[in-house]
Amino acid sequence: MEREACTFSYCEKPAIVEKEVDLLIIGGGMGACGAVYEAVKWAKPHGLSILLVDKAALERSGAVAQGLSAINTYIGRDNKPEDYVRMVRTDLMGIIREDLVFDLGRHVDDSVHLFEKWGLPIWKAIGTDKNLKLEEGGVPRRTGRWQVAISGESYKCIVAEAAKSAMASYDKAEYLERVFIVKLLLDSKEENRVAAAAGFSVRENKVYFIKAKAIIIACGGAVHIYRPRSVLEGMGRAWYPVWNAGSTYAMPFQVGAEATMMENRFVPARFKDGYGPVGTWFLLFKATATNARGEDYCAKTEYIEKYAPYNKNLGTCIRNHMMIEDFKRGLGPMYMNTDKALAELAKTIDAKHAKELESEAWEDFLDMTVGQVGVWLGNNIEPDKMPSEIMPAEPYLLGSHAGCCGLWVCGPEDLQNDATRKAGYVWEYKGKIYNRMTTVNGLFTCGDGVGASGHKFSSGSHAEGRIAGKQAVRFILNNRDYTPSVDKTADELAAEIYAPMELFEKYKTVSTTPYTVNPQYITPKQFLFRLNKIMDEYVAGTIGWYSTSETLLTKALYYMELLEEDSYRMAAWDLHQLMRAWENYHRFLTARMHLRHILFRQETRYPGYYYREDFNFIDDANWRCFVNSKMDPKTGEIKEFKREYVQLIPD
Ligand code: FAD
Repeated sequence: MEREACTFSYCEKPAIVEKEVDLLIIGGGMGACGAVYEAVKWAKPHGLSILLVDKAALERSGAVAQGLSAINTYIGRDNKPEDYVRMVRTDLMGIIREDLVFDLGRHVDDSVHLFEKWGLPIWKAIGTDKNLKLEEGGVPRRTGRWQVAISGESYKCIVAEAAKSAMASYDKAEYLERVFIVKLLLDSKEENRVAAAAGFSVRENKVYFIKAKAIIIACGGAVHIYRPRSVLEGMGRAWYPVWNAGSTYAMPFQVGAEATMMENRFVPARFKDGYGPVGTWFLLFKATATNARGEDYCAKTEYIEKYAPYNKNLGTCIRNHMMIEDFKRGLGPMYMNTDKALAELAKTIDAKHAKELESEAWEDFLDMTVGQVGVWLGNNIEPDKMPSEIMPAEPYLLGSHAGCCGLWVCGPEDLQNDATRKAGYVWEYKGKIYNRMTTVNGLFTCGDGVGASGHKFSSGSHAEGRIAGKQAVRFILNNRDYTPSVDKTADELAAEIYAPMELFEKYKTVSTTPYTVNPQYITPKQFLFRLNKIMDEYVAGTIGWYSTSETLLTKALYYMELLEEDSYRMAAWDLHQLMRAWENYHRFLTARMHLRHILFRQETRYPGYYYREDFNFIDDANWRCFVNSKMDPKTGEIKEFKREYVQLIPD
């Protein structure tokens, strides 16, 4: 089924804004802020123009919107980038791009030092009492081997301010907020080269058509692909930010970019219903998590014997698996023993420090998940006096946290060998290698966008944005004679983007309740519910404890085909709904990639994240490799295939 043509006979035609810049950055989160900060520096001496476009407002956009209480990736004096690679490899079950992870490890601290310079309070530890004192001076205070504690309620504001200041310092750099990018466009004269992007303002009746010599896409991960545990009025309360809808994966895939490890996902085990953070509780407060009988589910090694050799170190998914096994045996609920942890700590320190520490514990929630407090209040839970339930949440797709789906990118030149070159870790464009460039020439990514290299977190995403920013400028300078050309007109793009508005206006009188039921269209919310239902029930959602099989996945593919037809019949009655419609289309494309990758990989690489019940084992001989996929932008044909994993850092 095709989309019905929009002729603007029913809905108002938007104003069209056309722009042409050297570098376009899509997104305004940690990666994009890093990218623009760095790009300005390198672009300025050459007079290159830069435009950053965010669907929201930089000050509070992206996953760090609410603030954070820890920077999760800091190498510091105690670690080496090699150690970081080992940690990431272990946690992501043996398959990562070690060139990218090492590269991140050697650069990430510089971003952390910048954050501090820009005003982010990083806690310091001095003397021997280094786990307990909050004092000036000294080294950043660790809450775990890789984490440092921050007073981070305003983390994103600080990082955004630095990005805006960089742009303000240069008359050829600007940003647009509240502009949602819908699609990328390839060059009409040069094969496989990105040339433009198109989107619309979510506040004004305007469509944007932006041509660029290079584009960095950094729109975060994908949320609400799966039916969340909190439904109806609670739906907006998810662990990852609901406004990241898979745009990073969907748009590049549509123009032919190769994706990698899209079968991977992250299932965060968090405080039930409020999604409050558990890391600081485990790492800093040494809290224990137990089942309803008070048993430590992570001690039940019999649950993981079948996943040898990955049963030695308890990676994030494996710990989930152990919890899930206990749940299945009727041993839930699971509890985080916040009360006991605080009581134990109080025994080891004086009253003043104990109080200080307790307030830190609560700050952990106020900094980044204030909604948790509502759950406690509503349920009469006093977390200093009683334990709180924890639970594995619905799956999220991301590439920067404890997950690694994303795009296949070119690695840094200096870290390659014959094996990695053969495996396609690097390639040349007109004789030069560009770090973090996707397989579409001129299109770069970072943060959640770069696949097979998780555990970057906020600091790593910023640092990776800086790498991409510098490389994109280098790409533009090396190809200065290029002029983007696109075979679509701005009017055609506007008609495509506004099609859901036209559909609504055209058919709204066909039913008496145009916002809920209509034989001619479906609402964005109805589309989302159908997508969530398919993904939850067939593609290893929470409803079946993350289990699926070839037969279920095949059925899901069939339902997805029907859903794709209906994606062309999503209707929108205002700009907000128009954004919802396009977000859902991005979600749909991302979900289908996830489904197809899970179907392709015939093993259970990530027990605790998902299970292929028909291949419930880890098969290193056949599957310790990347699963990649690609869509032919001309025919729409999608193919999955393997790429070799190369170990660069010894165990
Ligand atoms: P984001 O920062 O999410 O930015 C995405 C940007 O894209 C946003 O500006 C968004 O508005 C924009 N966007 C999306 N779609 C479009 C579109 N179509 N058009 C235009 N713009 C678009 N890290 C830590 O270091 N420590 C922690 O304690 C920690 N805890 C976390 C807790 C939670 C609940 C979450 C969700 C994340 C946490 N992280 C933590 C990880 C960190 O937040 C991410 O790694 C990081 O933000 C990823 O950066 P990014 O630029 O890829 O995406």
